[in-house]
Amino acid sequence: MQHIAQILVNVGTRSINKAFSYIIPGHLDYVGVGWRVLVPFGNRKLEGFIIGVTTEETFSQVDLKPILDRLDNDIWFDEHMMSTARWISEYYLCNLVDAMRLFIPGKSGVKSITTYRVDKGIDVDSIACELGLKSTEYCQVFMYIEKYPLISLGRLEKQFGPAVLKIVRYLMRKQAVIGEAVIKKTASHRYKNTIRLAVTHEAAKTLMDSFSRKPAQCRLLAYLMTHDQLAYENFKQNNISHDAVNKLIQTGVVFIEKVQVIRDSYADICEAATQVTLTLEQQQALQSIVPVMQAKENHSFLLHGITGSGKTQVYIEAVAVARQNSRQAIVLVPEIALTSQIVGRFKARFGDDVVVMHSKLSTGERYDAWQRLRTGQAGIVIGARSAVFAPVTDLGIIIMDEEHEFTYKQEETPRYHTRQVALTRARLAGAVMVMGSATPSIETYYQAINNQHILLNMSKRIAGASLPEVTVVDMREELRQKRRSVISLPLQELLSETITRGEQAIILLNRRGYATFVMCRECGHIVRCKHCDISLVYHSVGNILRCHYCQSTETTPEICPACSSRYIRFFGTGTQKLEESLVKLFPSIRIVRMDQDTTGGKMAYDRILDGFAKGEYDVLLGTQMVAKGHDVKNVTAVGIIAADSILNLPDFRAAERVFALLTQAAGRAGRGDKPGKVVVQTYNPEHYAVQAGAQHDYQAFYQAEIGYRRELCYPPYGQILKLTIQDDQESKARAQAMVIIKELKAGLHDHTNIEVIGPFPAPIAKVKDVFRMNIVIKALDLVHVKGCILAMGLTTRPDVIIDVEPISIM
Ligand code: ADP
Ligand code: ZN
Ligand code: ZN
Repeated sequence: MQHIAQILVNVGTRSINKAFSYIIPGHLDYVGVGWRVLVPFGNRKLEGFIIGVTTEETFSQVDLKPILDRLDNDIWFDEHMMSTARWISEYYLCNLVDAMRLFIPGKSGVKSITTYRVDKGIDVDSIACELGLKSTEYCQVFMYIEKYPLISLGRLEKQFGPAVLKIVRYLMRKQAVIGEAVIKKTASHRYKNTIRLAVTHEAAKTLMDSFSRKPAQCRLLAYLMTHDQLAYENFKQNNISHDAVNKLIQTGVVFIEKVQVIRDSYADICEAATQVTLTLEQQQALQSIVPVMQAKENHSFLLHGITGSGKTQVYIEAVAVARQNSRQAIVLVPEIALTSQIVGRFKARFGDDVVVMHSKLSTGERYDAWQRLRTGQAGIVIGARSAVFAPVTDLGIIIMDEEHEFTYKQEETPRYHTRQVALTRARLAGAVMVMGSATPSIETYYQAINNQHILLNMSKRIAGASLPEVTVVDMREELRQKRRSVISLPLQELLSETITRGEQAIILLNRRGYATFVMCRECGHIVRCKHCDISLVYHSVGNILRCHYCQSTETTPEICPACSSRYIRFFGTGTQKLEESLVKLFPSIRIVRMDQDTTGGKMAYDRILDGFAKGEYDVLLGTQMVAKGHDVKNVTAVGIIAADSILNLPDFRAAERVFALLTQAAGRAGRGDKPGKVVVQTYNPEHYAVQAGAQHDYQAFYQAEIGYRRELCYPPYGQILKLTIQDDQESKARAQAMVIIKELKAGLHDHTNIEVIGPFPAPIAKVKDVFRMNIVIKALDLVHVKGCILAMGLTTRPDVIIDVEPISIM
């Protein structure tokens, strides 16, 4: 009897979407579905995921190879993780292996490199001789490999240049040299050495009394009697020499112990724990959630609470109940920038039970976080998108803060939406899901009032704080009054008052579609990236133009490249330029800027926000990310520049974006006991998203927006699928798109309510020299569309991107 495993090999190529069979060898007979193993694949050794096991009585398939090893000490994908991965691959039309890969730390857990050695049985001299007749170089390479067995290709290339590969291949064909894959784990445990007492405290005490001549050894013993252990790296700061340590090791009084180091950038982030009495609204929300969770039922909740109503506290209390019942929790935040805020509050309550997980952590850090969850050393994981895949084995609750945020959508394959994955995972694990927002997405709110989620409301700010008063400034009127500054008079006055009172302000520049670009005033020429169809953005640092898609840079031209006119100049407002205008108005103002240029490093967001919260700056200036999540009590003013520039985008979610952005940004003001004021600058003061945003009126916005969605059959009424066809040549991309449209229409012609729209060039038609042509499919239900796409084989085509329920149709 022989056990055969069906294994998906993690090779990272889209075209391989099938399982391979391997023999499960006797010494690994306990591995089964969900294990990660090492398998031979071609001449490599790769990571594989077992997705099925069969038993064969009479075993005939002689060509099957055995599994080489296991990669973990335990099963990795438990049943509900496996079914979640299966669901992702079916729903989002991606390969199962790509979906499974989301559940492991780092894209591939193992890397293998090939090494070469001379085959044992051969007659080295005669082969060398034979090769020497062919070419001296062939002979040299052979002798080198013989001298350094298990040499890597990299080292051979260093010695002989890149052409060596050809020679090595020849030697392998001649069976003179053997290539073998060696596994490098990309992440593993890290250890450090520490010193511990090997004797009892009494014995140590007696020794110390007799050590009057050995003060260094005495110090070490005294330290170990109060501290349990001492790490090597801390010898110096405790005035302890290696000499003293070695003597005590030799006499067996102390010993070295390796302890695992947990890599954690968030180790020092923790707020002081404060005792709070829950408000009535908070209690009511909890009273709905807790009984469902304790009954181990699956249900989802939408916690619709205005900014500052205390949603985070509800999350904390709900997670506390889950932990009391020994169940684990996943807490999702929309952006890495916002993790520290919430991590601080959770750590204050739960300490080391909290781990952080997101893509900017090092692979080592992620690996450690994963291991701590796996082994149950930690029970709460907080993170951006990827945390929804955390290996928690007894899931009790998933929290999704700011559920409306678009960053929850993954914009590379597999293009999943975190909300859908979380809902599915919660369902399969029998857990509850709590989605919170002040501005729920139209889809989620629609589902909630149609009883798919339980709707919980929190309509009051904590401690009677009021929502800020919002002034809408019509920028067309400003212009009529001959005021051309990007900062309107009302905003200027608000800033001046605020700073005089020693309070702080946030200014949000909605930069999307509004960046600084260079244009000729004579001929209208706009300087664009040579590789991408997009205008270059001016950066005063270095006086360069940069492409925000491919990051290539150019020097700023003095004369127009098209007509040689000298009247070439900058348009639009970037954050840098806004900063300059502010300094002109308020010379002594302390400004900190937060945008893509200033937040490169892992913890840069935190440093900026931290400095601002401590009052080191008067104004925090930046793009979208200054609008979200943080809670600085001294902020009483918020200015929003170009609030409506998004409205010009041809996208059905534009209004939703504007409304959420206005509400969230305004929500940063007046969170303490001082009232807040907000100035919104716009060219569309009458638009319903701007109006409702200024009134903090979600209902008004929802009613207007849902009417529009119904009329045009956009989500939640219809579903959308977007195909993007890519090619180096525009004409080919278009031709391919036409072929696909024709096939789609033929395949779907029985379904009259399905619309296939396109092809049209993506708004940024060319990125990194590749043209992109879009097709949008609108249907009441995508089932048939997905079936058709699968039947057409589009899922394995590298030139086609499939986006199920895209965030935007652009
Ligand atoms: P939201 O997440 O809804 O924006 P937060 O949870 O951040 O709101 O709460 C706003 C502020 O009120 C925070 O500083 C928080 O510590 C505080 N807070 C929350 N709940 C209470 C409570 N029950 N009593 C006192 N302060 C509270
Ligand atoms: Zn570019
Ligand atoms: Zn010109």
